[in-house]
Amino acid sequence: MTFEEDFLRAKEMIERAEKICALTGAGISVDSGIPDFRSEGGLWRRYDPLEYATYESFLEDPSKFWTMGRELARVILDAKPNDAHLALAELERRGKLIGIITQNIDNLHQAAGSKKVIELHGNYLRAYCMKCGKVYVGEEVHRRVVNGEIPPHCDACGGVLKSESILFGEPLPEKAMSEAIELCRKTDLMLVVGTSLTVYPAAYLPQLAKDHGAKVIIINLHGGNRDGVADIVLEGRASVILPQLVDS
Ligand code: NAD
Repeated sequence: MTFEEDFLRAKEMIERAEKICALTGAGISVDSGIPDFRSEGGLWRRYDPLEYATYESFLEDPSKFWTMGRELARVILDAKPNDAHLALAELERRGKLIGIITQNIDNLHQAAGSKKVIELHGNYLRAYCMKCGKVYVGEEVHRRVVNGEIPPHCDACGGVLKSESILFGEPLPEKAMSEAIELCRKTDLMLVVGTSLTVYPAAYLPQLAKDHGAKVIIINLHGGNRDGVADIVLEGRASVILPQLVDS
């Protein structure tokens, strides 16, 4: 099949579907200026995640995480949703998309207007105090980090702040995980966008949706190891392909 044939089949599937759900990853936000972690120039080419992004290493020395986090904050605070985020928000407005399961921590689906967003790996724009639990929502903590406060401290008790994004070795939020599983059971078409499907349990969700009768379309810059689960794979930039697929 050519790309054009696959594209037309995918468009028809979207038109016929009634309960679309999307599973998104770092690739959907690349055109918003947030590099994925594994590609050339990505954070994990420069910061070993085992040293900088595990829960254990955070407890040992939170300044390591926040040194990496400072770089992440600089790009996330400047990022705006791109046409792929907007296309998914439009599908929801039309009543065709029942939810987005995202591995991203950048808040861009919500910024695009999507309402039902399940964050499997938390949200970078929320933080909390490890000592007293005070919650910080928004950009304030990250602005402080960008300005050199590493690690940031709680203004109420002086404890160390942790971003609410999930680190390796930290359990996933239970509520998000059960909502994601529920969505996979309900959906009739899953759009998998910008994820290499290497991080579990997210990587297993397309198969779960398929096992419950859904079709699966993968949209990624490059093919991946898990393309076998898909009915159609479209290779290219999500910010170009998705708006054309949904005519947004
Ligand atoms: P990944 O880095 O493993 O894979 C990204 C995928 O996106 C790759 O398959 C790549 O080919 C594809 N891609 C790159 N540019 C694209 C584009 N313009 N259009 C379509 N596809 C494109 O990402 P992952 O599977 O999400 O796993 C990485 C983990 O790191 C996740 O847990 C996520 O929480 C975190 N992360 C989040 C962000 C963010 O919030 N924006 C950014 C980087 C990493």
